Order: sequence, then C-alpha cells, then structure tokens
Amino acid sequence: MLISLTACSSQGSQNSQSSDSSKSSAASSASQDSGTASSAQESGTASEAQVSDTPQATQDRETIYQVALLQSLTQGYYDGIIKVSELKEHGDIGIGTFEGVNGEMIVIDGKVYQALGDGTVQEAADDETVPFSNVSFFDSDTTLDMKDIADMASFKAELDKTVAEKGKNMFYMVKVSGTFEKMYVRSELKQEKPYQSLDKALETDQREFNYENVTGTVVGLYCPDYMSGLNAAGWHFHFISDDRSKGGHMLELSFKEAKAELDITPEFSLELSDNADFQSMELAKDVDDAIKKVETDVQTNENSEDNGEDNGEENPRDDT
Ligand SMILES: [Zn+2]
Repeated sequence: MLISLTACSSQGSQNSQSSDSSKSSAASSASQDSGTASSAQESGTASEAQVSDTPQATQDRETIYQVALLQSLTQGYYDGIIKVSELKEHGDIGIGTFEGVNGEMIVIDGKVYQALGDGTVQEAADDETVPFSNVSFFDSDTTLDMKDIADMASFKAELDKTVAEKGKNMFYMVKVSGTFEKMYVRSELKQEKPYQSLDKALETDQREFNYENVTGTVVGLYCPDYMSGLNAAGWHFHFISDDRSKGGHMLELSFKEAKAELDITPEFSLELSDNADFQSMELAKDVDDAIKKVETDVQTNENSEDNGEDNGEENPRDDT
C-alpha cells in the first residue's frame, strides 16, 4: 500500500514529501509540471511519481485523494484548500464539502454537485473551493445486488460483507443505484467567520430532508480502521437523485432493491494546506465523539432542540 502525503506547501521544508505546489496557484499537485523535482525526498519518491502523473494515468485511478482531514473540518477549518477544478483532476466520484461548509458535495460521473442547506442542488462552480473531500476515479471491481434493506445499519452490514471478503484494510468507493423508499439526508447552512466547530454549527444550522421513493445514487467511501486519525473509519455516504435536484449527507435509507458497485482502492494521497491557521491546529486532538456526532446525528429542522438518535451501535466500527 502506498501512502502518499502531498503537502501543499511552497516552502517544501516542513514535510519531506512536499511538492512545491501551492494551494492557491494554478500549479496544483495534479499538473504534470516540474512540481516534484525540487523537494528533498526521503521516502516519497514513489508518492511523488504518483501525484505528478496525469489524472488519467493508470495508478491514479487506484488512489483515494483526500483534501485535508475530517478532523480539521470537524474542528472548524472551513477555508478552501483547492478549487473544484483541481479536485476534478483527482477523481470523478466522491464526497466532501465546500468553503464555509456551504452544502454537501457529491461527485459523480466527473461532475461536482453542491447540495445546499435550503434543499436545492446545483453544479458547483469550478472556482468554488474545498476544505475537505475524498475523490477517486471509479472502476467497478465488484458488484452486489442488495435487497430489502430496512435501514442504515443493515445497509452498512451488507456492504461490510463485501469488505470483509475483499479486504478490510483497503479503501472502497461505492455507488449504489436504485429507487429508495426512504432517503433521509442532511445539509447545512453556509458558515461565516469566525467559524465554530462543526458539531456546534450543525446544532443550529443542520437542515434535514426526508424523501420518499426517490431514484438516485448513493456515493460512499469506506475507510479502514487505521484511518481514524485522518478521516472516519468505516462508511460515509452522500446521496444525489437522478434528476440532480435532491441530495445531501445520508442519515437513513430504506429500499427494496438496488445495485451496488464497489471500487477497491489500494492507494491514498493527502493534500494539506500551508495556511498558518491550518498549521497551528492540533490535529491529533481526539475529536472522535464530535465526528460521530456530525456524521450521524439527527437534528431538528426547526431549531436547535436535539432529538438526535445515537446511531453508534449500528456501526460495528464505532467503538467510542
Ligand atoms: Zn458527509
């Protein structure tokens, strides 16, 4: 397994594997320029070769590309690190959010959609920026016909069977297409500075949408357990309807039948920011509880009263 760290730093000194790409310049780490030649490399040779290839290169199709950390997002780092146009160079499927957590991101078929807090969905502008995301290029490695799924727990349990069979220490991108009897998603209102932590922001600004009999696609990422310091271990799902009018971060679902396609992905690449605020964050701080809360909690639509159900026990990976 190749873990490639792509520090988005212009100094190229803080991390031995950093390239000289800059978060704000047009020279992203994906561009096939000289960005890799200058930095001192200790263990990053293979990584550098990987990130400097064109997105269409074979090995890039097997990489989960991640912008920042779920932990930085959870702590309130909502500034965009790369542009949507740059993100597209790293994948055609994925999930994430936008500057100021201005809606939930769904990347599908090479297009980046923004499911906003008012329940509308739009295609994101190329110059919109991204504080957190995971994308990859999708190739279906294995499929699964799913039937009579009553809730999120059984949905995860079904997918977990494939993960157990194919290898729990790989990454998986999944696309699940069908008509969903129940599709319960959330988004959130755009945050303004000074930013609060994400769990605080969602207490008042989460918006939930309950759709019935909607046809569309669930886009999901599975991270292995050892990723809990950089992301969340286990599954994270977003949804978008076929007509691209409804979507969000998925909290619950049910359906009679749907087809799952899984892309088993053995490589990982991380894009960091050299922004001083980002560099001053304590990213080893334990925010597991806050992450679980922001991933699974149901808030009320109306106000901040919390009727959240703790879904932790539904996910065998949540051990907090
Ligand atoms: Zn999400």
